[in-house]
Amino acid sequence: MTQRPYNFSAGPAAIADEVLAQAAAEMLDWRDASGRSSGMSVMEMSHRGREFIAIYEAAEAALRQLLAVPADYRILFLQGGGLGENAIVPLNLCGRRAGVPPQADFVVTGGWSQKSLKEAARYCTARTAASNAANGHTTLPSPQTWQLHPQASYVHLCSNETIHGVEFHTLPDLRALGCDAPLVIDFSSHVASRPVDWSRVGLAYAGAQKNLGPAGLTVVVVREDLLGHALPICPSAFDYRLIAENQSMYNTPPTYAIYIAGLVFQWLLRQGGIAAIEQRNIAKAQLLYDAIDQSGLYENRVAPECRSRMNVPFFLKDESRNAAFLAGAASRGLLSLKGHKSVGGMRASIYNAMPLAGVQALVDYMREFERTAA
Ligand SMILES: *Cc1c(COP(=O)(O)O)cnc(C)c1O
Repeated sequence: MTQRPYNFSAGPAAIADEVLAQAAAEMLDWRDASGRSSGMSVMEMSHRGREFIAIYEAAEAALRQLLAVPADYRILFLQGGGLGENAIVPLNLCGRRAGVPPQADFVVTGGWSQKSLKEAARYCTARTAASNAANGHTTLPSPQTWQLHPQASYVHLCSNETIHGVEFHTLPDLRALGCDAPLVIDFSSHVASRPVDWSRVGLAYAGAQKNLGPAGLTVVVVREDLLGHALPICPSAFDYRLIAENQSMYNTPPTYAIYIAGLVFQWLLRQGGIAAIEQRNIAKAQLLYDAIDQSGLYENRVAPECRSRMNVPFFLKDESRNAAFLAGAASRGLLSLKGHKSVGGMRASIYNAMPLAGVQALVDYMREFERTAA
């Protein structure tokens, strides 16, 4: 295969060539581990058939191994995306405290957690426990300052803000803060880029299209004691307990997306698993942030200790050069660098599938552009 351009899209995002090539080779006739032909594309298989069950079980086991998910957590594969979960989580968790009206606390650190709060407010009393809006979402409010309510059914945060480029490098220990509510994290845009400290997390959710595979699949990892507390208005197809009891087959799951995600999980394991991937991600992020910080043209406004390893927003100090920067990048095979419309400037999303060579090519171009712009 000829070298494809480097795709810095925030999502749906780049998928490793190896994975796409395997999917292409298996498109018309999927074969099992022993090489036995199924005569079907994965898209055409019954979700209850032997072949797809094998694909599903392998994907689940690989994800459990990759993320070191403890035995008392369930992995659910469903539809609805990250935004769907913003409603599905309150619908499932707000029945946790008997006799207490539905309510939850939100740590607002950027566009996505702001959306989570707004959506949850349709189903419960959604309180802002802390916010970094005053400084334009460039820092993380220290957990000691969070206003946590003793009756909250859960505490929500977005562990990597895809638009604002702010990442929690350590998750808060809510128990140490005197809070007995489970922590819910939206880890859509950095899932599988680093380890997760499950001792601090009750539930984690991610749309697959950033770091796991194609759009259409949502992954939920949930501690078992949080199942079975859905509000009566929760749609059955989104009731975590029903989904868990039916191995994610309460209704038809996104079968093809699960298959591709399974190939991505196998690819990640072949790369050396999360520890190896994390080291690569650290090196990629360092290369790009150093280039930005050392330049006179580019800037990133996020406090260094909470800069995202996955999504790097940056600005040209001379914004009149934005269009020229993007056109030059595209002509060198560096795609999708335009920043989110709410922030402007540029954004380089450097998920697991982005090799170090791709970041190096971007940095080389940025230096060249700065020299010629001077
Ligand atoms: C992309 C993204 C979402 C939205 O996911 P959809 O699948 O489009 O609903 C939610 N949260 C975060 C952190 C994201 O990056």
